Amino acid sequence: MRTIILALIGLFVAASPQARADVLLTNVTLVDIEEGTLSQGQSILIEGTRITAVGPEVSVSEEAERIDVEGRFLIPGLWDSHVHIFSSATEPDTSFPLYLINGVTGVRDMGALWPIAEQQALQTRVEAGEVLGPRLVLSGAWVDASPGSWPGMFLADTPEEARSVVARISDEDWAAVKSYSMLDEPSYLALAEASEDARLQLVGHIPERVALRTAIEAGQDGMEHFGRIPMACSTEEEAMLDALRTAMAAGAPRDEVFAIMASRNRIILETWDEARCAAILADIAEADLHVSPTLVVADFYLGNWPNADTPRMRMLPETVREAWGKPDFRLEAMTDEVRSLARESIALDRRTFLMAHRAGVPILASSDASFANPYLFHGFSLLDELDLYVEIGLTLREALYTATVAPPRFFRLADQDGTIAAGRRADLILLDANPLEGLATLRRPWAVIAAGQMLDRNELDAMEFELLEGSK
Ligand SMILES: [Zn+2]
Repeated sequence: MRTIILALIGLFVAASPQARADVLLTNVTLVDIEEGTLSQGQSILIEGTRITAVGPEVSVSEEAERIDVEGRFLIPGLWDSHVHIFSSATEPDTSFPLYLINGVTGVRDMGALWPIAEQQALQTRVEAGEVLGPRLVLSGAWVDASPGSWPGMFLADTPEEARSVVARISDEDWAAVKSYSMLDEPSYLALAEASEDARLQLVGHIPERVALRTAIEAGQDGMEHFGRIPMACSTEEEAMLDALRTAMAAGAPRDEVFAIMASRNRIILETWDEARCAAILADIAEADLHVSPTLVVADFYLGNWPNADTPRMRMLPETVREAWGKPDFRLEAMTDEVRSLARESIALDRRTFLMAHRAGVPILASSDASFANPYLFHGFSLLDELDLYVEIGLTLREALYTATVAPPRFFRLADQDGTIAAGRRADLILLDANPLEGLATLRRPWAVIAAGQMLDRNELDAMEFELLEGSK
């Protein structure tokens, strides 16, 4: 087993799906996360990468492997809707097993250094069950004003450039267009219009000079991170946007631009208005604008970092741990004021988040995990994010919904919608306890099934072991 798993991590190679026997799981308790109900005594037939039959009686051929799961709980595999797995050449080698051991069988990549053709080649192999890893949605076509906040971004400084960038993104077959922070309003509006014409979803940051309501009216489909919602709850939103517009129009240096953005936290705390908040949240819900909150990012800013001897740290390559130990430009950019208000700001974010959820704003569980984002862990951080949703006030079912049902529907996947039924892709988790009674059981799945490939507890343990050994 050890050698098989070793090969698997190094080369992404799993058994070919053609050679795999059909699997019949019997005595399964199905968890319906949309309805919050259980169905006991079910059987599930998995052929290749798909579920082909579900019911109390399922007939199969003699050759099918039968596994009695003794009443354990079956849920759809989890999605992390905001990650970056291509920030280094070898990041998938580590991130794929990290996702699988945590039951994450789907991720949406939101921006990367790999050429799109290479991302798509890997995606195709995962899709076919040739490579063992989470299903990939490639939404990292990020578009920013020059010079670009990160290397390798698409750049648009005029509406014409925005339109030609969308044409390229469409030609290259990305899943969506991702707007980024420094776009000016005319370019952003052209980007939104061109995305709609190209039938591409527009997801991403609400640019720093664009009002949230303007983005809703422009047809933004998905919104990354949460900070712009409390800002839109402030009676001073327009004044804050104007201050930045004026400075940038006058060619203010970068430091000054960042100082203006940093000054927003105090203003938001002082001018957050509940009635205004309720109104904008109702508009977001009405527009079906999906929010990927990445609340767990707050741990990074608060310095809630795990010790070096925790398994999640020890599973990372040494180069990553070293990089995370170095001074970070994002922490250094924090002003004393931002630092002193951090706890209050985060508390307000969480209060606003609960209001958003109760107002019907659709949420996609998301972590921003990446080797480039210190202390945000592939796999583990998604489970932390779900725990946080529950701590803030979502029910267990509602938290699970944001990671199982909402993402594949938002991504418009033909064969996945958060239900367990014939014809669906076999991305599943078997759990020892009912997750509708507590999420702790997600931390140690009994088995994880990715594209029909079942990893039992022994195999998951072996993957963990290899991650720990391989990172020494
Ligand atoms: Zn991100």
